[in-house]
Amino acid sequence: MIPFVDLKAQYQTIRTEVNHAIQRVLDNTSFIMGDEVVAFETAFAEVTGAPHAIGVASGTTAIHLILDALGVGRGDEVITTPHTFIATAEAIRHAGATPVFVDIDPQTYNIDPTKIESAITERTKAIMPVHLYGQAADLSSIVAIAKKHNLFVIEDAAQAHLAQYDGQHVGLLGDAGTFSFYPGKNLGAYGDAGAVITHRDDIAEKVRMLRNHGRREKYVHETHGYGERLDGLQAAILGVKLAYLAEWTTARQEIAQRYRDGLAGLPLLLPKEVSAEGHVYHLFVIKTDRRDALKAFLKEKDISSGVHYPLPLHLQPALSYLGHQAGDFPVCEDAAKTVLSLPVYPELRVEQQQHIIHSVGAFFDG
Ligand SMILES: *Cc1c(COP(=O)(O)O)cnc(C)c1O
Repeated sequence: MIPFVDLKAQYQTIRTEVNHAIQRVLDNTSFIMGDEVVAFETAFAEVTGAPHAIGVASGTTAIHLILDALGVGRGDEVITTPHTFIATAEAIRHAGATPVFVDIDPQTYNIDPTKIESAITERTKAIMPVHLYGQAADLSSIVAIAKKHNLFVIEDAAQAHLAQYDGQHVGLLGDAGTFSFYPGKNLGAYGDAGAVITHRDDIAEKVRMLRNHGRREKYVHETHGYGERLDGLQAAILGVKLAYLAEWTTARQEIAQRYRDGLAGLPLLLPKEVSAEGHVYHLFVIKTDRRDALKAFLKEKDISSGVHYPLPLHLQPALSYLGHQAGDFPVCEDAAKTVLSLPVYPELRVEQQQHIIHSVGAFFDG
């Protein structure tokens, strides 16, 4: 069976270093905050070029805390995409604000900037693009719209570690960027973890306080905060893995290129790559009207595949309070029925990938 991600294979490649890092944390008992967290934050800031990186408990928390830090909350609206993981909208709701959806671009599956302005109201406080599948959204258009209307830009970069836009790491073109280190992400912890990066000193300081019960000093709680810290074990593991991230990202991009070459000419839509450095291939997503049949066919050939995402956010039961119905965001709804994610991870072997490519070809030939 070719799995959709292979964290066991990855662990085997870094086993000694990871075990050593875990042992170090146990020996030092630096479980919450402490040296390991500071070391990882410093390294992540360096790799991204961010003036500030703040470790938090998850990617969802990262979004929630940055909204809080910016003062976005009750009565406010945040514009985002309906074609994303539920956490994007959940975190907006955690902050007390309301998600407002805008349909996606049919080629990149990212938020369509030409549709953003008509969704802006006097309650709009922020635009939150998601760099979906690892590809940077159209940030120059989004930032220009935000400037014109005096809105914040928060980049949900949970799937886009190391993706660049205009020579900068994603997360730095807007007010802040949020990352998830969920195990299956391009940089994954061995549990829940996340981070915020920003070039703004004021909100960096606020997020640091918010994650840690609203305090700077041990017994002075300056503001209402949360217990949403990154823990030492995760930070130590992430520190080991961060050193490999550039190499792993190149491997993902090479796998993507082999898919492009191998699947060219078949009656399916390959992912559009806006720029080489702008896509880090968290997912390699093809599009076909015969998606469900192809997925079943691959399963028979022992190949796992995924659908990201089969039910758009505006049609999720949890978001029924927004009052949407089928037909509201047709491009997103079409994608939900036709996209298929093929395995893409650094440990995917060439012969495994050849089997996948051959099987997709056999499906369309047959
Ligand atoms: C994974 C993910 C999140 C949430 O991250 P967690 O660490 O699981 O909380 C948010 N947004 C997107 C787009 C994601 O893929």
